[in-house]
Amino acid sequence: MGATGTGKSRLSIDLATRFPAEIINSDKIQVHEGLDIATNKITEEERCGIPHHLLGVINPNIDFTATNFVDMASNAMDSILSRGQLPIIAGGSNSYIEALVDDKDFRFRSKYECCFLWVDVAMPVLHNYVSERVDKMVENGMVDEVRNYFDSNANYTKGIKKAIGVPEFHRYFREEPYLDKKSRAKLLQEAIQEIKRNTCKLACRQLEKINRLKNKKNWKIHRLDATQVFLRRGKEADEAWEAMVAGPSTEIVAEFLYS
Ligand code: ATP
Repeated sequence: MGATGTGKSRLSIDLATRFPAEIINSDKIQVHEGLDIATNKITEEERCGIPHHLLGVINPNIDFTATNFVDMASNAMDSILSRGQLPIIAGGSNSYIEALVDDKDFRFRSKYECCFLWVDVAMPVLHNYVSERVDKMVENGMVDEVRNYFDSNANYTKGIKKAIGVPEFHRYFREEPYLDKKSRAKLLQEAIQEIKRNTCKLACRQLEKINRLKNKKNWKIHRLDATQVFLRRGKEADEAWEAMVAGPSTEIVAEFLYS
């Protein structure tokens, strides 16, 4: 668990390379096919050969509900367990994780034990990072990628079109054919700024939800503070990641599995 940008995917890969495991995505937008840049999907290369479930498999035009998630994630867990592997659920849609774990009949809790890991980063540091990440997405071709999802009726209420980065570009795509270079660049900047603001808002909402699960629902969530990773560069950042996130998480999971 963790807000957008904190390193959930990285941690899931670290754990899956240290324990025999497969990964189930719990980001309700990344389940859809398409928008790999804008939704920041983990790349094939970053997956290090670890099997991923519920990632980029759903038709972009249909809504993927919490019920869909509970059904498909449960099936994926059963098939992963039947192969003697550990299911790791990684993603930012906390309401979907809640629907899975706290179902009304306690089916999940009676069948499985679970261990919650939360990668946390101080909010001002995370805001900086996700803002820079938006600039990188733009450099990597986000605008052309999102252009395919422009809807002349401005209906961004279904499926992958709900993703941050799609509705924000509506005005830009609508007006770009009629504008001179300068006005176009200005509109583009405004869209990018809005994406940054909305990503920061998403991070704050995700953090509130994790705090609610931890404090009001008493989920035993292990918090890993990754802030230092984001304040350092290169090798030092990697060392901080190992010391503060990957290493402690490995110990927590080993304790969970073997004691
Ligand atoms: P809620 O109940 O608010 O929908 P949730 O926990 O079910 O919360 P979140 O994952 O917080 O779902 O997603 C809320 C919204 O944030 C999505 O509908 C989408 O607009 C945006 N969002 C979430 N993840 C991504 C992503 N990977 N890329 C782009 N936008 C995203």
